[in-house]
Amino acid sequence: MSSFETRAIHVAQDPDQQNGAVIPPIYLTSTHKQNAVGELANGYEYNRGGNPTRDKFQNALANLESAKFGYSFASGLAAEDAIIRSVLKPGDHAILASDLYGGTYRLFKRIHEPIGIRFDVVDLNNFEELERSIKTNHTKLVWIETPSNPYLTIFNIKEISNIAHKYGAITVIDNTFATPYLQRPIELGADIVIHSTTKYIGGHSDLLGGAVLLNDEEIAEKIHFIQFAAGAVSSPFDSWLIHRSLKTLAIRVKAHCQNAEQIAHYLDSHPKVKQVFYPGLPSHPNHDLAKKQMSGFGGIVSVLFENEIQALTFCNNTKLFTLAESLGGVESLVNHPAKMTHASVRNTPLEVPGSLVRLSVGIEGVDDLIADLNQALNIVS
Ligand SMILES: *Cc1c(COP(=O)(O)O)cnc(C)c1O
Repeated sequence: MSSFETRAIHVAQDPDQQNGAVIPPIYLTSTHKQNAVGELANGYEYNRGGNPTRDKFQNALANLESAKFGYSFASGLAAEDAIIRSVLKPGDHAILASDLYGGTYRLFKRIHEPIGIRFDVVDLNNFEELERSIKTNHTKLVWIETPSNPYLTIFNIKEISNIAHKYGAITVIDNTFATPYLQRPIELGADIVIHSTTKYIGGHSDLLGGAVLLNDEEIAEKIHFIQFAAGAVSSPFDSWLIHRSLKTLAIRVKAHCQNAEQIAHYLDSHPKVKQVFYPGLPSHPNHDLAKKQMSGFGGIVSVLFENEIQALTFCNNTKLFTLAESLGGVESLVNHPAKMTHASVRNTPLEVPGSLVRLSVGIEGVDDLIADLNQALNIVS
């Protein structure tokens, strides 16, 4: 089974042996019967430690990310927290990219800095600055989100991983925006991939989830232990739903990319729009790197207006684009980062201007989407 599409549908999806059900059942159970004390059925005991439905999803996603090990969590942030706890101890130092999900910054700043983790925010496209920021023997981790949120900056996974490895640090890639269909960081030399499976992998805006994928056995054991001992696991039902969504990931992401590309070009030529951020536009500063590192440009488009009033008017007047946080679902969403997703990074180096709007372009008919954007832009003055 070599193609991505085939593996997405068939890995860890063998039909049920007992009844021949083509789709393996959901194991809605918290515990498993032991035949004698300590004699476990297939290794299963209590479901915080392992559940057959969760295991299937973990194996399937690990396969798609070219990773040996996969662990799924109750949310993307729970997955991130498990990585930080596994890799960093008090006194260690981390480097964070200068454009990333506000909640990631908040997790470092409000949860881990107070217990002794140090970190700096660095422009990771500036390799000299990156090397200068590395504290030899203390910097253990470089955290990259690419494409980033909300500016769709592309960071060079291979180069940054090489630099980090030179100093004994590892790289963590938040692959939420790209998905393994467009970009596989571990193949490019990264150490750990994290997903908010709430987004494209879930794909239908109906669940929360996170996942960690990696090859390093020692770190994998720690992540597995934290999953079990701290307990932020994904439920059997959520695991089943996300695994179901994985089967249509390729076809959904393809459609997201097509629609987003058309919308980016439409907005780019609109007189009321000041700037469009989309890695598929030839004017995007990292367009060439995006072409090399990814096999498509994704479904997120950010738009800069002249001022905040214009941005808010636009957000409040789209009809098909629903005003809501989150992204990556089949339905189109519009978001005002400064007041919504990125409100937690106000007055930090990651602050986002009020004139910026982020679109999560869905897979509806693109003409309907453009007509909606057009009527909202007509109201903007
Ligand atoms: C949403 C998001 C997260 C956090 O995931 P949750 O599932 O909301 O906890 C992390 N990284 C990125 C890029 C995200 O978009």
